[in-house]
Amino acid sequence: MKLTVLGCYGPYPKAKGACSGYLLEDQEQEVRILIDCGNGVLSRLLTYCNDLNKLDAIIISHLHPDHISDLMILRYALAMGQTKGKISKSIDLYLPASPMDDYNRIQYNQAYNMKVIEDGGKINIKGIDISFLRTDHPIECYAMSFQKGIKKFVYSGDTKYHQPLIQFAENSDLFLCEGGMLHKDMTDSVPHVSAKQAGEMALMAKVKRLVLTHFYPDVDTGHLFIEAGEVFPYILELAEEHKNYFI
Ligand SMILES: [Zn+2]
Ligand SMILES: [Zn+2]
Repeated sequence: MKLTVLGCYGPYPKAKGACSGYLLEDQEQEVRILIDCGNGVLSRLLTYCNDLNKLDAIIISHLHPDHISDLMILRYALAMGQTKGKISKSIDLYLPASPMDDYNRIQYNQAYNMKVIEDGGKINIKGIDISFLRTDHPIECYAMSFQKGIKKFVYSGDTKYHQPLIQFAENSDLFLCEGGMLHKDMTDSVPHVSAKQAGEMALMAKVKRLVLTHFYPDVDTGHLFIEAGEVFPYILELAEEHKNYFI
């Protein structure tokens, strides 16, 4: 599998950056899945997948705006493409059903084939087994695991430090985990993990490679790298927009 980071900032981007969005493909590029669709992601997606017919599905971790705002724009591209005969069908969109007001605002004409995800749910998209784990976040949010053959990729979504996520991410080849702030800046009310906590979860989960993401735009990512590296002594990287990560 190949992961391309389309956007790695939250809750808002820095100049020329984009919020959460990741394109997962298999090596032969027969499967394309968009994971999260924050602001700025559609433009980036079209760089790598200009024919939206080739996008198999979209999976959304949760309905916070930094993860869904470009769904509101992508739906225009899909609906207009359908009208012009360029897009053959509604695209499968997997997402949580709450908050209900946000969920109900997403559909436009027949742009999306909306499918609700649940804790413990499992789906298969063209040979990739995908499962979901509810995280600890103020609204319904899911971490997700993608397995193809012996390879396993896990994305944390947004979460506070969450013990069940450790087991869920166990032995993954790549763990894409939020960790966009320094531990000293954390308070109990912050619904995220620090870089240190991301490193701790990755260590306990025995992941082979940790990639930090969901960066606050004004944080020095070099400091995040140092902080996570003090607890996670294996392969550690920072998410970089437009960079590919092979799993
Ligand atoms: Zn977020
Ligand atoms: Zn969030």
